Amino acid sequence: MSHSYHHAVSSAKRYGGQPEDYQEIHSWFDETKRIMADARHRALRHHAEGIFLCESIFGVTITNSVGKKVPVRLIAEQHVTEDMGGIPSAVDWLRNIPLEQWMNRPQRLQVEIDLFAPVEAAPSLEPIPDEEFYKSAI
Ligand SMILES: [Zn+2]
Repeated sequence: MSHSYHHAVSSAKRYGGQPEDYQEIHSWFDETKRIMADARHRALRHHAEGIFLCESIFGVTITNSVGKKVPVRLIAEQHVTEDMGGIPSAVDWLRNIPLEQWMNRPQRLQVEIDLFAPVEAAPSLEPIPDEEFYKSAI
């Protein structure tokens, strides 16, 4: 499994500057190893949606130490491709997660409980007319 530093060295060779110019982006991709220390950690960011998320976090471009603007998406695509040989979608990952019963045990929301409560228990929206109201209607 590639270390994020090696991805940063690769970026520096490809786009110029120093590995440190790219380290933060590559570390972001691989910091999910703290959750699961095998290749499955990649399910969280190593996909097309993760690449766009990376761009939204780091911006459209970074300026490296030689003053060159480099698109963040290209750096991100490089990382994912170096790790996986291509760019999967998040759906590619999700399809491989077995659907477990614990994933779908919805509890009734309070709004649903209120909606289906007996009418007499629901608060009235209209004030109840008093005797004077009925006298004036005659
Ligand atoms: Zn990676």
